[in-house]
Amino acid sequence: MATTHTLGFPRIGARRELKFALEAYWKGASSRDELVRVGADLRKRHWQDQGALDLVPVGDFAFYDQVLDMSFTLGNLPDRVKGFHGDALDNYFRVARGRSAETPGEHGGEHGGCCGVAAGEMTKWFDTNYHYIVPEFDAGTSFTLDASRLLEQFAEARAEGVRAKPVIIGPVTYLALGKAKDGSDRLALLPRLLPVYAGLLQALADQGADWVQIDEPILVTELEPAWRDAFVQAYRALDTGAVKLLLATYFGRLQENLPLACALPVQGIHLDAINARDEVDALIEALPADRVVSLGVVNGRNIWKTDLGATLDWLEPVAGKLGERLWIAPSCSLLHVPVDLAGERKLDEEVRSWLAFAVQKLEEIRILATALTPGQDGGRAAVAAELDANRAAIAARRASPRVNNPAVKAAVAAIGPRLGRRKSPFAARAACQAARLNLPKFPTTTIGSFPQTKEIRQARSRFKAGTLDAAAYTEAMRGEIARSVREQEALGLDVLVHGEAERNDMVEYFGEQLDGYVFSQGGWVQSYGSRCVKPPILFGDIGRPNAMTVEWITYAASLTDKPMKGMLTGPVTILNWSFVRDDQPRSETCRQLALAIREEVLDLEKAGVGVIQIDEAALREGLPLRKSQWQAYLDWAVESFRITANGVEDATQIHTHMCYSEFNDIIASIAAMDADVITIETSRSDMELLDAFDDFNYPNEIGPGVYDIHSPNIPTEAHIVALMRKAAERIPADRLWVNPDCGLKTRQWAEVIPALTNMVSAAKTLRATV
Ligand code: GLN
Ligand code: ZN
Repeated sequence: MATTHTLGFPRIGARRELKFALEAYWKGASSRDELVRVGADLRKRHWQDQGALDLVPVGDFAFYDQVLDMSFTLGNLPDRVKGFHGDALDNYFRVARGRSAETPGEHGGEHGGCCGVAAGEMTKWFDTNYHYIVPEFDAGTSFTLDASRLLEQFAEARAEGVRAKPVIIGPVTYLALGKAKDGSDRLALLPRLLPVYAGLLQALADQGADWVQIDEPILVTELEPAWRDAFVQAYRALDTGAVKLLLATYFGRLQENLPLACALPVQGIHLDAINARDEVDALIEALPADRVVSLGVVNGRNIWKTDLGATLDWLEPVAGKLGERLWIAPSCSLLHVPVDLAGERKLDEEVRSWLAFAVQKLEEIRILATALTPGQDGGRAAVAAELDANRAAIAARRASPRVNNPAVKAAVAAIGPRLGRRKSPFAARAACQAARLNLPKFPTTTIGSFPQTKEIRQARSRFKAGTLDAAAYTEAMRGEIARSVREQEALGLDVLVHGEAERNDMVEYFGEQLDGYVFSQGGWVQSYGSRCVKPPILFGDIGRPNAMTVEWITYAASLTDKPMKGMLTGPVTILNWSFVRDDQPRSETCRQLALAIREEVLDLEKAGVGVIQIDEAALREGLPLRKSQWQAYLDWAVESFRITANGVEDATQIHTHMCYSEFNDIIASIAAMDADVITIETSRSDMELLDAFDDFNYPNEIGPGVYDIHSPNIPTEAHIVALMRKAAERIPADRLWVNPDCGLKTRQWAEVIPALTNMVSAAKTLRATV
């Protein structure tokens, strides 16, 4: 009989209870006790949800972030919060969120400010959309054990009758994910770190822990020799016999690290058998015969039902070989999927029958384990009804005409090299565009969105609730568009935008209008802290039944003589911010999206729109974990953008926008997109980001952002002029645009007007002086 477990469970709550409890606490609207109680209730409920498992994770709950929890457990707090004598939970949130100079009634404000505390840096957790707080180190970092959180939760779980398996982040991954603020060698800290880990394992053993799951997902990435050695050193030190260690790897294949992992003195290894199914045999071969082999056989990164029959077909012989040594689990923590499908009331019934959220995925684990159990109560016969229902759902999905549209497949198959190529090289296009658009030097523009005001949000929610009819909603949005056009004309901007009033979200807006998408009501996934996202579900071949933006843009264009920029989200960003299908490669899905958005581009062009921006904010987010796979991804991602953008005439100007920093290692691909203009986030890097473009001799036009839209501060004209002068040292002035770092939807008009006023006057100064 296989032992069943999971590496982690979502903590936010099926109704985002944790989010609301956190936000109420931060606002001062609820007490610390209340927050603590919500946490305990959620843990208890989630342990019940996992009740059928043989081993249930403990320590996967976090009020903000599991990496930050680990930093507290290890006593690794940034110096700036060390002397704090107040409440420990408040101090935790100070690192998580920063704190401005005392705001009365607030338990923790926004970042920075005088006498405040800067928030810890946040970055993506491997290739997921979860963000963790980066551990901070320097040469003098020391560690001291604070096992209280884990011990309390362990005791709490045991009191609930839970078969608890504490979960911690392993020492090598912990160091690898952190940053040495002084540039010192993080590995030099390992000898100081290991005794603290050993103490933690001992403390857990003293409380009665048997197995401890120690996460080392860094093993699925390329490791320098020193980091490989660190694994050997670390696990030798942790091999104290206090507890049994399950070394958990996930998100990919072990590849060259497989022998290393198998040689470590741990009692079991978890392998992501979704991504690394082909390594299962080698793992079993390489592991000593007394070790546990935990296989992640249900995908923890998507929302699809597992094909249980097919899984059993390959798993049965493996189980035969391993017997009691086999454990089964989802491939990774379920943190990355929504909690429970049962909460979905409005979801398309057909698509719903193909889905599994966290609770359903654990049920799949139970069914698989039962089917693998020999004897009377086990075997496929014991779960025949469940397997039949699963087989029917898998077959229905495969056969559904809503999933497979031969016309779309044929269109993708027919994509040739010419489809993604502009008619002329950049220089010739630029001349046509200059003649058509007649723009001054240092043209000014914005990135797309204007403030999403209370009125806009109210109108949208009334429209969705049915208390505002479509005509009235359209009228309200047109009013907002007219307002933003009026404001932009008054400001004297050169290329206008319609302001995106009608868009709830830059991906959802398009998903809602494309065939092949559905939306859950409650399919929330934690992004960071209290922030959740609800990724749209891309389930079928992508079609665009109607134009999606043309009416709004042409309406906006009709209100002004200035060029009006059409505004679209690119295929790569739509892909990377959706739950996508698992029955074809991501590249194939991306090409389908590219063809659909391409039609929109061509319809905008036909409607007379001369400037079209295609946002690719999430292009970098899709980069694979291993550098050796980057180029393959970049190739199809860039190809998809080119298919989308490059069908237009020379005189149509294509813009793209990306709002992350770090272009150095992907600049060739950025250039290959061949957008006429790229606008990027640069203001906080003092224009140094442009070095990558300069070094590469990037040939097309660039709009380096001149002010940070995340901050309410109003940039001065002098500051903008100074930044643009720096830009002009790197990029010829006749190829520079002047624009903010990103869209303005989170700002107030009262901030936007003075900021853009200064930006426009800065452009005038630049025209006169550069
Ligand atoms: N056009 C979008 C906006 O202005 C771009 C958002 C983004 O880059 N994240 O809001
Ligand atoms: Zn942006």
